[in-house]
Amino acid sequence: MTKYLFRIDDVAEEMSNWDNFEKLCKVFKKYKIKPIIAVIPDNKDPEIKGKKKKGWIKLIKDFTIAQHGYHHLKTGTGGLNKLNPYGEFAGLSYKDQYDMIKKGRDILIKKGLKINTFAAPWHSYDKNTIRALDNLLFYHISEGLNVHEHYDSVIWIPVSDWKISKKLIGTRTLTMHAQDITPKKVDIIKQFIKENRKDIISIEEINPFGRSRFSLYWFYFWFRYAYHSPLPRLIKWLKN
Ligand SMILES: [Zn+2]
Repeated sequence: MTKYLFRIDDVAEEMSNWDNFEKLCKVFKKYKIKPIIAVIPDNKDPEIKGKKKKGWIKLIKDFTIAQHGYHHLKTGTGGLNKLNPYGEFAGLSYKDQYDMIKKGRDILIKKGLKINTFAAPWHSYDKNTIRALDNLLFYHISEGLNVHEHYDSVIWIPVSDWKISKKLIGTRTLTMHAQDITPKKVDIIKQFIKENRKDIISIEEINPFGRSRFSLYWFYFWFRYAYHSPLPRLIKWLKN
């Protein structure tokens, strides 16, 4: 059975499309849907600039917040995914990436947001990005071109759908940019939700071991998870 998630990219404190974005948030709230809101911690991308909205944290607080990079600048390469020739992180040293992700996450936590998920700007990441996310105790990365979720250092939720339409199989993240939301698009999403509500899930409902709960893979996960910095992970989990 196909499961759907929604992901809205490029949400920043100062952006130009607050009215339509707010309309879409109201639809999600009405149908009790928890989309992934990919928030840029400290936006410096001139293409996203706009007006600051009062109460914007309150508007998104109950959704799943993903950290969308740090400054949203093209400081890196396309990385492993190769969807774009540039990105913010891929190609940079482990230390640089770790520091950027940590600084960005601290900004979002200070604003009162819970951050366990990462969404890479321009879908660009490399081995150092994944290592940094693992060491910073992120649970999920909303990236990858697979059809199903899987575990590899973090839990990967694939992102390869940019059109609101039904799919045959898999866990599908229907992704759009906050700047591209129009009243017409809000209506299309509303209609899709009405027709498919029971198949729309939140990231917290994803269990990458679902059907293989007693497989070796599952034991491997717990061994690795417990072996790798068990105390900080336990503390973080309890705090959540
Ligand atoms: Zn972006």
